[in-house]
Amino acid sequence: MSEFTSESSTRTEFTVQGIPVSAIAAEHGTPCYVYDGAELAARMRAVRTALYPGLEVFYSLKANPNISICALLHENGARAEVSSLAELHTALRAGVAPEDILFLGPGKSEAELRACLETGIHAIICESFGELDRISALAAESGVTARVVLRVNPDFAVKGSGLTMGGKPRQFGIDAAQLFEAEPLTRAHVRLIGVQVYMGTRILAEEPIAENTRRILDLAQRLARHHRFELELVDIGGGLGVAYFEKETDLDLDVLAGLLNPLLEKFAADHPGTRLVMELGRYLTATAGLYVTRVEYVKTSNGERFAVTDGGTNHHMAAVGIGSFVKRNFPMRVLGAAEDAATEPWNVTGPLCTPNDTIGKKVALPAVEPGDLIGVLRSGAYGPSASPVHFLSHGHPAEVLVHEGRAHLIREADGVEDLLGKQRLLIDKTH
Ligand SMILES: *Cc1c(COP(=O)(O)O)cnc(C)c1O
Repeated sequence: MSEFTSESSTRTEFTVQGIPVSAIAAEHGTPCYVYDGAELAARMRAVRTALYPGLEVFYSLKANPNISICALLHENGARAEVSSLAELHTALRAGVAPEDILFLGPGKSEAELRACLETGIHAIICESFGELDRISALAAESGVTARVVLRVNPDFAVKGSGLTMGGKPRQFGIDAAQLFEAEPLTRAHVRLIGVQVYMGTRILAEEPIAENTRRILDLAQRLARHHRFELELVDIGGGLGVAYFEKETDLDLDVLAGLLNPLLEKFAADHPGTRLVMELGRYLTATAGLYVTRVEYVKTSNGERFAVTDGGTNHHMAAVGIGSFVKRNFPMRVLGAAEDAATEPWNVTGPLCTPNDTIGKKVALPAVEPGDLIGVLRSGAYGPSASPVHFLSHGHPAEVLVHEGRAHLIREADGVEDLLGKQRLLIDKTH
């Protein structure tokens, strides 16, 4: 994504691979998400170039479940980590081989577990003793042996992340202490093959990632010894963040590599043949996405300016920000405004009938007029799929992927029938 000032005017065109976003908005309508395929590929390439080559990158589809996003990342070397039936089939249809898929999640249904066994994915990441029993029973029914990775709720947590998981009562994984107290786990139709730990999301410090990894590798070895299985896979989690807000800085991949690679190299030397896995969602997709809305109205209220747009938190809940005290804004632009235009504070709000539908509070923007496009940058992760898209019945927005210099619609916007078609009218007075 880039901005350039054209010679003939004071406007700065905002483009993706040379295509003006205004043209994409005109063709596909607003609100919409625009993704830069080159950026997605570059993120994968950067990770694979910087980090230990034996480390396999699994894309966590929950960050952005669009099948074309998944396929593009896969084309650039990503495997898949899925957490629902539809995510599993998304990965398969996107071309990911079953042996490069892991299924994870605290509440897997029988149908989901059966699908894991039937499709022959590499492993189920098991999150409780009860689930282990269920996996074994279902595998027995199907006459197969299930490959299972134990998800561990570790007894350590190294700070430096937005949301830490370790060392707390959690529905995720099995407490490390319980695993060490238990007798060696044996289930007739289960083969334990590995250990997974996920420490949290939005981690923006390199050292805690390396320190967590060091502890996870150690924990995995001790658990495998205790439960007497061969360590065929260690999933060190991920949760690498991107900077959204003021005073945040992006991770430095080279610094991370400097800390992480020696640990992974040493482990790999001691355990040849063990698959080493990192799970990444946000880190791969966030920077590639732009949420584009059109300003419907501008107004003032009690001395503050409001730009009321056609899309809001129904598509981009994350932009509500975190931290209840001061609202922190995602990076935002008036697309097409001159780069040196004077700015003033604007509240950017959406179409919902709730004051919470505020995408930006007192954002410094140039003068805004109805018809202008406002773009929210770094919006490629946890967008519509993590937002209340049905609130006020607006539905899912269109998604456009710019791939090799062309804009492709990769998801149609919902229309009225998409929203009404699944409802049943009980009292029909129309005939
Ligand atoms: C959500 C989640 C991910 C992806 O997290 P990001 O911060 O988007 O990279 C990976 N693994 C697990 C277990 C998760 O719950």
